[in-house]
Amino acid sequence: MTSHSKIRLFTCILPLLSSKTPLFFHSQQKFCNKVPKSHTGMKSFSSRSSSSLSIDAREITEVEAAISLEEWQGWGTISPVPSMVNQVIQDLKLLEKDIDARMSFGGNHGKLLGDFKVQEDKKHRAKYASLDSSEEKLQFFSARQIACRLLGSRGYLCQKCWLPLEDCMCSRVTTCSLWHRMRIWLYMHPKDFLRQNNTGKLLWQVFGVHAALLCLFGIAEHEEMMWNEFNYAGY
Ligand SMILES: [Zn+2]
Repeated sequence: MTSHSKIRLFTCILPLLSSKTPLFFHSQQKFCNKVPKSHTGMKSFSSRSSSSLSIDAREITEVEAAISLEEWQGWGTISPVPSMVNQVIQDLKLLEKDIDARMSFGGNHGKLLGDFKVQEDKKHRAKYASLDSSEEKLQFFSARQIACRLLGSRGYLCQKCWLPLEDCMCSRVTTCSLWHRMRIWLYMHPKDFLRQNNTGKLLWQVFGVHAALLCLFGIAEHEEMMWNEFNYAGY
């Protein structure tokens, strides 16, 4: 998966106004030019490196390894559970049975550990190589990143502020309303998803998930929602 290393991190905030002139904001990021083919008219951003905090490895039981709509949306999105993320999770569960090893995660990035990691690494690289188009490869890369982060963050991160539960700062956030004709889209690289030092999530903590919307790069359900809305708004 060598091309993955070329995909630079980014987070951008796209306010959607009723005006014909789009406004673009970004936070502590740089532009990059790796975006889905269908969206080459838009720009994206790269981010700084992630924090190096670590946590104890946690085993994920089979019962836990299904993402419900409630759990998915609890992380800050109003979309349905992405089908490819669900597929990756199902594949991870099948691999557990095939090799009789439990998946476990360490660090704060949903990184797999141990023998399961070795086996899964071979499997996902083979899957990646089998995909024909760069678009499919990007979607698989994104879904796998997000699936692992979801499973690896369960019971560890607060769903709202994405900080370890013992560091939860939700009670300190003051909410307010966004102007009714304004909506903000946060376009986020999957490697920024559930990253503790990601400040983008503050947008929907403050303004709410219907005023500040998350679009995860490479997730078809999210990309479709955002670009459809831009098209509807005339951009
Ligand atoms: Zn919190």
